[in-house]
Amino acid sequence: MLKIDLHIHTVASGHAQNTILEFINQAKDLKMEVIGISDHGPGKTDVFLCESYFRTLPRIPDVVSGVRVLKGVEANIINGDGDIDIDEKAIKNLDYVMANFHENCGYEDCGKEGNTQAMIKMIESGKVDIITHPTSTKPYETDLKKICEAACQNDVLLELNLARLHSRKIKPETISNLKTMIEIAKRHGKKIIAGSDAHNIWELGDDSLLLPIKNEIGLTDDLIINNYPEELFRFLGVARNISDEN
Ligand SMILES: [Zn+2]
Ligand SMILES: [Zn+2]
Repeated sequence: MLKIDLHIHTVASGHAQNTILEFINQAKDLKMEVIGISDHGPGKTDVFLCESYFRTLPRIPDVVSGVRVLKGVEANIINGDGDIDIDEKAIKNLDYVMANFHENCGYEDCGKEGNTQAMIKMIESGKVDIITHPTSTKPYETDLKKICEAACQNDVLLELNLARLHSRKIKPETISNLKTMIEIAKRHGKKIIAGSDAHNIWELGDDSLLLPIKNEIGLTDDLIINNYPEELFRFLGVARNISDEN
């Protein structure tokens, strides 16, 4: 079980089944310390979200029932310049920004090299803290090695996406891609972040599919930033302990 899970979609994403409160209650039951709400950016045309959702999200208390609740977004790359679908004002009020390509966000495929450059420009923009599922940029082809190198050089965390280890999502190349990602992160002395990409409370913090492949992909506990809450909070530039518990 992850201590910290920053990749969570709620009913607001349109294709997930639980509310923020239900995720908080589940986190409490699982004795998790921190969760992060990360619904899809408003540029995704097949979700129900609008930009104002992210402006009011920070009004949710920082601590609920003893669980630290971070507010974030899983934004979408919308063009070849690496722009994302969430404005600076909203970003300022959020605790963290994650991003990648997703379908139905208005992005026009620029080919492998162009897509890779769009991602690198986004990484270099300084707006994004975490690249979600870097090993899967579907349906846009990218160069994984270049993306991982750029992320490490620019101090952007690479996510190991636990949902993509599920039998319904796993691909023949998943293991070798994860190996590549971890090898590059290690070479740069960086940790990676594990994220459940939970779309319901039963997926929250569940890392059971990671355990059997950890050795094979070269992953050890010291490389997973979820095991080091203080370091993760420092990285995100947010306070861990909020005294006025709600
Ligand atoms: Zn995603
Ligand atoms: Zn997601």
